[in-house]
Amino acid sequence: MSPRLNLIVLGKQGAGKGTQCTVLALKYGIPHVSTGDILRNAVKAGSELGQRVASVLEAGELVHDDLVNALVRERFTEADAQRGVLLDGFPRTLNQAEALEAMLGSDGIKLCINLDVAKELVIRRLSSRRVCQECGATYKDTDVEAISGTCTNCGGDVIQRTDDHPDAIRTRLETYERDTEPLLTFYGQREILVTVNGDQSPDDVTNAIVSVLHERGLA
Ligand code: ADP
Ligand code: ZN
Repeated sequence: MSPRLNLIVLGKQGAGKGTQCTVLALKYGIPHVSTGDILRNAVKAGSELGQRVASVLEAGELVHDDLVNALVRERFTEADAQRGVLLDGFPRTLNQAEALEAMLGSDGIKLCINLDVAKELVIRRLSSRRVCQECGATYKDTDVEAISGTCTNCGGDVIQRTDDHPDAIRTRLETYERDTEPLLTFYGQREILVTVNGDQSPDDVTNAIVSVLHERGLA
C-alpha cells in the first residue's frame, strides 16, 4: 500500500489555497479538508458548534485550538481520508502543528506547500472576492455571477464573506503574521517546506506544485 499523501497548503488569506486544493484533490483522489469551510458550514447549519464560533469567524479571529484540533482529528477517521488529505487552513498555530504531529506521527506530513503572495496583492484579492454560499465557488466583484448574485454552478446566492470586509481582512492578516508565519520555521526545520510563487495564474501555480511533488517522489 502506498503511504498516505498528507499535504499542508499554507499561505495568507487570499493566496489561492482553496483554488489549488480543489484542483489537487481531484488530481490525486484525496479530500480537500478546509477547517474554514467546516466551521462556516456549521455556522450556516446553525448547529451547536456553529453557534459557538459564529462571532469569532465574523470578527476574523481564530477559533480555539482545542476545538479545531478535535474537528480535524475526527475528520481523519473518515473513510475518504485514509489515502491522505489536503489540509487547507490547518494548522495555523504552533499548538495546532504540534497536535497534528501527535495525530499523524513525525513523518505523517509529506510536504508543506507555502503559497507565497505579497500582502498588498491578497488585500486586493480579498476585497474583490465574492463566494457562492451553497457550493463555495469564488468569483470577482466584476464577474456576472457577483453582479447578478447567482452562482452559475449551482444557482446558489453569491455574496461577500463577512470576514472579507476591510476591518476583518486587517485582523486576519495580522493574525496570520503573528500566529501562522512561525509554522514556516517549524516545517522548514523538518525539511518538508517548499515555497511556491502564488502570484502566477492558477494553472501555473498547480504545475509548480505538481513538479515539486514529482521531484520529491510523492506523486
Ligand atoms: P481565511 O484563511 O481566508 O481567513 P478560512 O476559510 O481558512 O479563511 O477560515 C475562516 C475562519 O475560520 C478563520 O478566520 C477562523 O476564524 C476560522 N478558522 C479556520 N481554520 C482555523 C484554524 N485552523 N484555527 C482557528 N480558526 C480557524
Ligand atoms: Zn454555487
